[in-house]
Amino acid sequence: MEVQLDTITAATSELTLKATPEQLNLKLDLATLGSDVVYNLTTRRIEDEVFLDGTLTFTMNLTCARCVDEFATPFRLPLRLVIQLVVDESLVREEDADSEEFVVFPEAKKAFSLDQQVRDLIAVELPMKPLCRIDCRGLCPQCGANLNESPCGCKSSGPDPRWDGLRKLSNN
Ligand SMILES: [Zn+2]
Ligand SMILES: [Zn+2]
Repeated sequence: MEVQLDTITAATSELTLKATPEQLNLKLDLATLGSDVVYNLTTRRIEDEVFLDGTLTFTMNLTCARCVDEFATPFRLPLRLVIQLVVDESLVREEDADSEEFVVFPEAKKAFSLDQQVRDLIAVELPMKPLCRIDCRGLCPQCGANLNESPCGCKSSGPDPRWDGLRKLSNN
């Protein structure tokens, strides 16, 4: 989603943008966008700096790491970005582009894409191991039944499936 930087002035103004899941093209484990991402931003330019400040709202469809059920979770994340406009493109260095909250951008390009910032922000905020609920019982290691729905009748001699993830880690 692009912000037209040449329309931003010293007067604070509101900007609402929307990006579809296809546009953002997130590549995440156990998570897909369940809605558009709506950006509600206030914009302001002071000399050669553009300030974007606001929130992102969207829904993620997460896959439970224990029972593999999909569940939707609403998110509301703050987005804060300072874009320093430069005339000379050679001033744009790699390390500047890496910062989450500050970027250097050639003024002549005018349209600034927020997509990478938004992808990074979402990736950082997502849980490493999404759980449909904190006490999810997971799947029976023998018959694969979802133990949240009902006990399956297998002898529970096996190790607790809730520790599968940790066990995998320690086997590596
Ligand atoms: Zn679950
Ligand atoms: Zn079972």
